[in-house]
Amino acid sequence: MLEMTIHEKACRGCHLCLDVCPTDCFTFEEETQKAVVSILENCIECLSCAYICPSGAISHTNHHEVKNFYRNIEFSKRMEKFL
Ligand code: SF4
Ligand code: SF4
Repeated sequence: MLEMTIHEKACRGCHLCLDVCPTDCFTFEEETQKAVVSILENCIECLSCAYICPSGAISHTNHHEVKNFYRNIEFSKRMEKFL
């Protein structure tokens, strides 16, 4: 079964994982200013969050083979400055 963890100390609260996740698996904790996994059941194991995280804070275990990187036009526009 899939397991996903966010390394709390590594997370810098940039919101990129929340922006990229197509199934809204994350929420942002205002108190700690960190992302947390809130609905793991929704995860389609695309691994986009792990790729986009600038801190390498997100890791998955027991996931299946990588599917296509999730993108849409709006998200790509916002990410232009990083590409
Ligand atoms: S992308 Fe990485 S650093 Fe940014 S909020 Fe998500 S877990 Fe934290
Ligand atoms: S692997 Fe894909 S679906 Fe799962 S939490 Fe990350 S971005 Fe969302």
